[in-house]
Amino acid sequence: MDSVSVENKGYFGEFGGSFVPKDLQQVMNELEKQFLRYKDDRVFVEEFKYYLKEYVGRENPLTLAENLTKQIGVAKIYLKREDLNHTGAHKINNAIGQILLAKRMGVKRIIAETGAGQHGVATATACAMFGMECIIYMGKLDMERQALNVFRMELLGAKVIPVEKGQGRLKDAVDEALGDLVQNFQDTFYLLGSAVGPHPYPTMVKHFQAIISEESKRQILEKEEKLPTAVIACTGGGSNAIGAFAHYIKEKNVRLIGVEPSEAPTMTEGVPAVIHGFRCLTLLDELGDPKPTYSIAAGLDYPGVGPEHSFLKTSGRAEYVTVTGQEALEAFQVLSKSEGIIPALESAHAVAYAIKLAKELSVEDVLIVNLSGRGDKDVEQVFNMLKK
Ligand SMILES: *Cc1c(COP(=O)(O)O)cnc(C)c1O
Repeated sequence: MDSVSVENKGYFGEFGGSFVPKDLQQVMNELEKQFLRYKDDRVFVEEFKYYLKEYVGRENPLTLAENLTKQIGVAKIYLKREDLNHTGAHKINNAIGQILLAKRMGVKRIIAETGAGQHGVATATACAMFGMECIIYMGKLDMERQALNVFRMELLGAKVIPVEKGQGRLKDAVDEALGDLVQNFQDTFYLLGSAVGPHPYPTMVKHFQAIISEESKRQILEKEEKLPTAVIACTGGGSNAIGAFAHYIKEKNVRLIGVEPSEAPTMTEGVPAVIHGFRCLTLLDELGDPKPTYSIAAGLDYPGVGPEHSFLKTSGRAEYVTVTGQEALEAFQVLSKSEGIIPALESAHAVAYAIKLAKELSVEDVLIVNLSGRGDKDVEQVFNMLKK
């Protein structure tokens, strides 16, 4: 596996870093040390690749969206099929990587927090596979809204702990999980689900998700004998996007495009600030607190974004655009009908932008859309939205 360099102590320009209390910082220092020790270790990498193949089902295809491409009649659209992974999204790549690291550290207890439940399910899945104790913190309100995902995690053997403090939302669950980590760090590993949080998490999550572009680059060169015009991915915290971009960042002719919901325009309207232990572009309210967001795609509902994306944006290497919930909903239906692929509502944002962009390019152009997940989880929600 190509290694991803550990940027200057987790700084990407002015973004990233680690802004946490002293006792938590010690835990982060130890985690960084262990990550650096194993990330390029031959046996560790082989083990990671073994489970990606045998358990996750990689490598997944880079599928030409034939009908959609014909309908648009200009640029070619390829789909990187993270939706075909076990559990139906990219999150499992990172969950497996971090659990393998936890195993090396001799830890048997995994904790995580989840809002919509997708990261909780990926974590509970990997814990079941590796026989780890699994504790998931979840806001009480989120638990009520996502009752089926709570049951899924319980089926997988996880213990889901309701957080009643604060507003009973994701932020409160994060606080509880961090409190647990500080108390129990000797036998506990905090499995973070996106390319956010204090160093080393953004770098570590990128390292494990970089498999997406490692594969897609090889695949597109085989199919087209050239690099793509652009790689397009939706950005919530930014893990599927940074994984989809990673191996193209140095290829200056490849456009990197992150798509966020107009309802949570972190990158397009955010300002630099420290939230959740790291500096990034973020949406703040008048009091300087992270602003609540309301995307139809639960996975994109995050007021901040990973530090590397913040840097790729301000340095001009990547572009970030917005798509409305309505446009995503249309793309959700278009891809389902044209290709027989029901995308996650998150991924539908990337598809919506790709359709717009394809029309502006030429027949020589090739686009890769990272299809971060499948849409089965969203079918009931879309049913309710379309009925109205
Ligand atoms: C969680 C999720 C996302 C958003 O998370 P990122 O860290 O921004 O990738 C996007 N798509 C799907 C399918 C998800 O489950």
